[in-house]
Amino acid sequence: MLTLDLHPTGRHFLQIPGPSPVPDRILRALSLPTIDHRGPEFGALGRKVLAGLGDVFKTRHPVVVYPSSGTGAWEGALVNTLSPGDHVLMFETGHFASLWAKLAARLGLQTEVLSWQGHDEHLPAAAGWRRGVDAALIERRLREDTAHRIKAVCVVHNETSTGVTSDIAAVRRAIDAAQHPALFMVDTISGLASADYRHDEWGVDVTVSGSQKGLMLPPGIGFNAVSPKALEASKKATLLRSYFAWDEIVAMNKDGYWPYTPNTNLLYGLSESLDMLAAEGLPQVFARHRRWAGGVRAAVQAWGLPIQCADAAVYSPVLTGVITPPGVDADALRRLIHERFDLSLGTGLGKVKGRMFRIGHLGDSNDLTLVATIAGCEMGMKIAGIELAASGVEAAMAYFAEHAAARPVAPAA
Ligand SMILES: *Cc1c(COP(=O)(O)O)cnc(C)c1O
Repeated sequence: MLTLDLHPTGRHFLQIPGPSPVPDRILRALSLPTIDHRGPEFGALGRKVLAGLGDVFKTRHPVVVYPSSGTGAWEGALVNTLSPGDHVLMFETGHFASLWAKLAARLGLQTEVLSWQGHDEHLPAAAGWRRGVDAALIERRLREDTAHRIKAVCVVHNETSTGVTSDIAAVRRAIDAAQHPALFMVDTISGLASADYRHDEWGVDVTVSGSQKGLMLPPGIGFNAVSPKALEASKKATLLRSYFAWDEIVAMNKDGYWPYTPNTNLLYGLSESLDMLAAEGLPQVFARHRRWAGGVRAAVQAWGLPIQCADAAVYSPVLTGVITPPGVDADALRRLIHERFDLSLGTGLGKVKGRMFRIGHLGDSNDLTLVATIAGCEMGMKIAGIELAASGVEAAMAYFAEHAAARPVAPAA
């Protein structure tokens, strides 16, 4: 280890919203011996994980698995379905939506970015980064586009830079109400397997995701769930692609293989993650994250600090953004908390850098890791001289004590 002489005792608190803490069971699966990616055992593993992914994305159609980060899967979604100069409509919910738009522009697409307008007393420089997508605005823009120049609508389901979710079904309804043929693409890199998501039912054409958030894996796998309409579009799309092209991957996936060497050990982990999610049940998984989020928000509200998400209807179950008081550098505070308590918190990204920090409540966490996380934040803020209205630790303890976790019913002995 690089820092052997500095190795702290106990577990590091990795409470950033991805990579999330990886359960021991998955870490052990990752350490199994690497096998022949053309051999029979691998085919069985490939078929198993591809089938299991359908249950998590809630789709009966192909899910393409890339050895890439989520950013690679963003690129995969666009290059497979679009042609140079195509017009794409995006919605700026935060930093990740902005990065996806930047990537689209670099690929030679013509991007149009919608956003919330208006003033924000807490974050004047980042007005609009406190709400989910405005489906009515998307509908209005699509109705104006009578020539159907817009080829795709792209939105982020769980905006990890802010802790705000977007109503994906409402965007589908907006596209349908405008009777617009654009493809619908959704980034649920941090929403999958922690917030409710339904690829087929919500009529999404390409869903983009990644391994290191709700799936509780290390970084290194990207996903594209692909609708029949998107597969059709991929036959005519002319953006350059080779490594990310769906056709050969989907063809070889039928037998559980890939056209190149896939990340074998991460797929062991994925297989384990899918087993864990299936055993708990997705409704319970979603309820668990909502409850954790409730406890963390109770703490932030007790501190008297504003939550980055200004709309209670779209609070993220995955992370909570905390706006620091004016004049307090949120990154200096994060550094102090990391040095003193070995607790990593998410940094403010882009327009909110230095103005907020993010508490991740996903992955291998539980009530007590979250109470300890809140204690680390609270101690750090006190050391930094920040005045808090009340104890967030006590508020979180009360919340978790008053809201018993739903547990799967054990079968009778
Ligand atoms: C993490 C994340 C990304 C970026 O994924 P990488 O794996 O870092 O490439 C994109 N969008 C959202 C919403 C994310 O949470």
